[in-house]
Amino acid sequence: MSKLKLTDIRKSYHSGEVVHALKGVSLEFRESEFVSILGPSGCGKTTLLNIVGGLDRYDEGDLMLGGKSTKHFKDKDWDAYRNRSIGFVFQNYNLIGHQTILQNVEIAMTLSGISVNERRAKAKSALQSVGLGDKLNKRPNQLSGGQMQRVAIARAIVTDPDIILADEPTGALDSQTSLQVMEILKDISKTKLVIMVTHNADLAEEYSSRIIHLRDGEVLSDSRPILQDAQEAEHAERPSSKPQSAGARLDVGKTSMSPATAAALSFRNLLTKKGRTLITAFAGSIGIIGVALVLALSNGLSNYIGNLQAETLSGLPLTVSENAQQVQAPSGPPDALTGGSGGGAGEFPTGDVLNVTEDPAEAEQHVNVLTPAYFDYVDKLPVELPDAVNAISYANGIEMNVLAKGGDDVVKFGTSETAAGGGAALPPGMGSAAPSYWSELPGDEDYVRSMYDLIGEGSRYPSGAGEVAIVVNSYNEVDKAFLDKLGLNGADGERKLTDFIGRPLLKAVPNDAYYAESAGGLFAPAGADRYADLYSGSEGTTLTVAGILRLKDTGSSSSGFLTPGLVYTPELTQAVTDDASGSAIAAAQRSSDRDVVSGAPFAEETLKEARLQALGAKTEPTSLNIYPTDFAGKEEVKAYLDAYNEGKPEAERILYTDLSDVIGSVVQTMIDTVSYVLTGFAAISLVVSTIMIGIITYVSVLERTKEIGILRSIGARKKDISRLFNAETLIVGFTAGALGIGIAYLLTLAINAVLNNVLDLRNLAELSPIQALILVLGSMLLTLVAGLIPARAATQKDPVTALRSE
Ligand code: ADP
Ligand code: MG
Repeated sequence: MSKLKLTDIRKSYHSGEVVHALKGVSLEFRESEFVSILGPSGCGKTTLLNIVGGLDRYDEGDLMLGGKSTKHFKDKDWDAYRNRSIGFVFQNYNLIGHQTILQNVEIAMTLSGISVNERRAKAKSALQSVGLGDKLNKRPNQLSGGQMQRVAIARAIVTDPDIILADEPTGALDSQTSLQVMEILKDISKTKLVIMVTHNADLAEEYSSRIIHLRDGEVLSDSRPILQDAQEAEHAERPSSKPQSAGARLDVGKTSMSPATAAALSFRNLLTKKGRTLITAFAGSIGIIGVALVLALSNGLSNYIGNLQAETLSGLPLTVSENAQQVQAPSGPPDALTGGSGGGAGEFPTGDVLNVTEDPAEAEQHVNVLTPAYFDYVDKLPVELPDAVNAISYANGIEMNVLAKGGDDVVKFGTSETAAGGGAALPPGMGSAAPSYWSELPGDEDYVRSMYDLIGEGSRYPSGAGEVAIVVNSYNEVDKAFLDKLGLNGADGERKLTDFIGRPLLKAVPNDAYYAESAGGLFAPAGADRYADLYSGSEGTTLTVAGILRLKDTGSSSSGFLTPGLVYTPELTQAVTDDASGSAIAAAQRSSDRDVVSGAPFAEETLKEARLQALGAKTEPTSLNIYPTDFAGKEEVKAYLDAYNEGKPEAERILYTDLSDVIGSVVQTMIDTVSYVLTGFAAISLVVSTIMIGIITYVSVLERTKEIGILRSIGARKKDISRLFNAETLIVGFTAGALGIGIAYLLTLAINAVLNNVLDLRNLAELSPIQALILVLGSMLLTLVAGLIPARAATQKDPVTALRSE
């Protein structure tokens, strides 16, 4: 039985005019013979060969392989058939230019999953058998035509196929080298079927064992056809060395290229054109650079703006105090909050009616009655809006009895200058009172330390009732008046931070020790003569300076939220009020309508309240400051505070003062604008880089069309081709991403250096490692996606057409 049998094969091409290339060809071939097909140009020789080789499909008839019909062959069956049973030799050699000749021969085996060593050994011996054992590492363009054709033959025979198809193998060779090639083919035909198309009748006559003439798609003559009985005789006398091997192999056969092979192949391809790959990757990286820079800048900018906002707001918190000097309506539209008296509805009137508003002075009078329920409500703020609030600080208007011993004498450290009202927690510069140099730290240590540095050796953050800290400005400055209060006015000369750190400088004396009750039910504060005794006495809390806090120098003009001077812990307030509320003077004051110190009657009920507050007899805070994280957070806090007032009668409403109101809206607009612009830039960069990468990948696929044809002719599946291109685009994507990140990083260094010099902004551009990683992965994904379409196009390419391309 013969290996290969064609019955009435017909093939037409329908591009433009219909061409009947084969008009019913019936042929049968022996397992081993040297067949030459002769005929004028255009008579269908190549078409016949391509159909026999499974590169092209017949329209009608049947092709029998080892007695089996191929009518129902699927693509993968044809791929396997080409890879295992067929070896192609083309007129123009079709070698892959960027690979060595050893690799060119090996490539057929990479598709059939043979181990590297075996692959190499087989390729070497195939090259040796065609006389090229000494040229293994040469590239095709370093060889002569005859040598290249011998490489092609080595590639055709290396997988030990049953059939070798040669399409005008000597067409481009001189007569001398033609003879060499014919010798080799003749040698091969001893064990294999060799079908050769040629124009050269002499060569065919001399070397081949059978000559078939084709004319206009039909067999004109056949010098040695297989006759039924003759064939049987031949079969009996010369039994097949590999019986039915083609059929047997076709059943198991499935070619495949492992992803690793695909990657290695692509990698080598890219390596052979390093300069080009680098330029490609660079072009692709431009978009990545753009996105990376925009990200870096917006990181830095949003950090910067965030800090700026937090700093600004730390000096201008939302304030709620008992005597609210209200500048805003409780629940008007946002425009009304910014202090505009525009009359509210938000729309400009079109009629000619004159609108009359309330007298602003009258509308804004309001007294806040701070109730425990309100404090509970405010206490829930950090839970309800964790991202909006940095800290909340309280002031309760207590006047502590504090004595200081900075020098030789003990002096009264006056904690408040205002007799009535107590220290409202107005930020520095905003209160009407002279500075008291004495204020409570917000409970949130992290917030304080985000704005202040601890300076000086041994400086610690104060903890517990017995520790205080000194607050200095960015230049380590304190007022002279502050030192006076500590009793240090007399001493001259330089002062060191360490003169204060760790020193017990002060003492908080309890009301019962400080105030002496006199006969008329009045109380007298201690005179200067008793200070030394009280200071050294056993009652009270000794206050040690634990550390010195300095406002961080961030380049902004913020004055910070801590009053310069001494700051004490909330624990001290707790301890003092606990003690004071049970003191004799507090009890006396509660039940008296007069000031128990001066004896004068109170003009107003609120003044008595203030007095009680000052004595520590009332523990509720008199005011509070809320420090939002940023302007957006501030609006959330304001909405939260407004919600408390909803549905409440006028008298129970609690109004706040927004000290940063006017600059807030300006800054917010600026931030919004900047972030829109940055987002726009990032989007544009992304689009540009996607298009860039898409084009580059597409060009790269076009460039390798020939290689696709070659790979297909030796049995690569469509899947293998797309793997090859996906591997290549991934490698290019990675290179582009890494290159882009590297360049962007260098650029951020330069940008930072410039910004630092010109604008005094530190590290404004900053790309985080995670963003860098995401960008590299994104670049790979982008190239992959951009490459999918051309890679698909590549796999869809008809192998015959692909081979024709140059
Ligand atoms: P030969 O190899 O004998 O010179 P071919 O087999 O290449 O001839 O071509 C046979 C006929 O089919 C020619 O007329 C050729 O123009 C036509 N032909 C071959 N391939 C195609 C194709 N892909 N599309 C259209 N016509 C084709
Ligand atoms: Mg041809």
